[in-house]
Amino acid sequence: MSERTAICPGSYDPVTNGHLDIIGRTSRVFDRVIVAVVGQGIRKSTTMFTADERRDFLVDATGGLANVEIEIFTNLLVDFARERRATAIVKGLRAISDFEYELEMNQLNRKLAPELESVYFFASPDYSFLRSTGVKEMATFGGDVSDLVPAPVAEALHRRARR
Ligand code: ADP
Repeated sequence: MSERTAICPGSYDPVTNGHLDIIGRTSRVFDRVIVAVVGQGIRKSTTMFTADERRDFLVDATGGLANVEIEIFTNLLVDFARERRATAIVKGLRAISDFEYELEMNQLNRKLAPELESVYFFASPDYSFLRSTGVKEMATFGGDVSDLVPAPVAEALHRRARR
């Protein structure tokens, strides 16, 4: 049977332990995982970290997972998934608020690429209230985020907060 590739898309601004939980679980279910980092200019909102920085944090944090690769993408997600011959898009679901957005995205992507399945993993209870925006806010006001993100990310956030 052919190799099954999953794409885990996101802004990862910056990567949190919640993202890593989903990536790790995906790597146990699929043969190959491509973590697709939204490149600069795709979304209107600006990011705290550049696409290269966001990718580098992920490369560092997933170094122990042999079947995981990190890539920046700047085109439509379904086109990127097709180019990589992916079988599925994998997303994490935290709360009802994620559900509404994901349902809409699911239907749009299904229209564009009916052959591509979207798969959802429920957030682990430890991380179900964790999002990058909250981590950035906490760090900006001097809060300790070391339990929420990998160590190099926590250091980078605290360095920025001190500026
Ligand atoms: P965020 O919402 O934190 O800015 P992204 O846009 O980078 O996240 O999300 C990438 C993917 O990771 C999405 O599928 C999102 O639902 C999922 N995700 C983000 N945080 C968590 C978490 N704490 N637990 C599970 N999944 C998560």
